[in-house]
Amino acid sequence: MKKAFLFRAILALAVVGLAAGAATRLAYISRPRAAARIMSTGRNERTLILDPGHGGADGGAVSVTGTYESQINLAIALRCRALAELYGVDTVMTRESETLDYPESASTIHAKKVWDTKARVELVSSTPYAVLISIHQNKYTTASPHGSQALYAKTEGSQELAQAMQSNLSQVTGESKRTAARIGESIYLMNHVDCPAVLVECGFVSNVLEAKKLEEPAYQLKLAAVIVGTYLNSVC
Ligand SMILES: [Zn+2]
Repeated sequence: MKKAFLFRAILALAVVGLAAGAATRLAYISRPRAAARIMSTGRNERTLILDPGHGGADGGAVSVTGTYESQINLAIALRCRALAELYGVDTVMTRESETLDYPESASTIHAKKVWDTKARVELVSSTPYAVLISIHQNKYTTASPHGSQALYAKTEGSQELAQAMQSNLSQVTGESKRTAARIGESIYLMNHVDCPAVLVECGFVSNVLEAKKLEEPAYQLKLAAVIVGTYLNSVC
């Protein structure tokens, strides 16, 4: 991506954010941290796969407000898609609604989760030059932790993208001590794809203030603008 285009893209993201009534602290917009380029394949050949975590029989964590994590993940991912498509990025979603169609053979919740996870792996694996961004929310046993956490797969380009994501998101969430970390072995999807892959825990649904913000469309849009802006800056 040419520098001038990047500047216009970031400016437009800022305008979209402001138009939506987002708070005025948009420092990340003016100085996004660039990840190392994700290999040599440019943005035009890449497909951004947005994965709203959970869904269907699996609601994920439950917020202190009573909202399922799956709903927040989907709302943020859909905003990411809208922004990404605005910039001509080929985008694929692993799910587009809260309901999922399962095969008859998947009769238990566990079987449904397994089938769904494997279907997501297959989708990512069958997409050439994919970059996976999985959207989740965090939950802790106490109320104080807040802010985003970017976790990366072991695949090439993942760590750099997660570090840029962490740095840029910290300017929205106000939490700047956390650093990007390698994803745990238990997250099947992230450990079974061979493309650059980052899982973004956007915020803590166990923190009352942050849980409420995570349900606000303007805050969701700010998070989406940072996620997509960081992606654009990383693959151009
Ligand atoms: Zn989750």
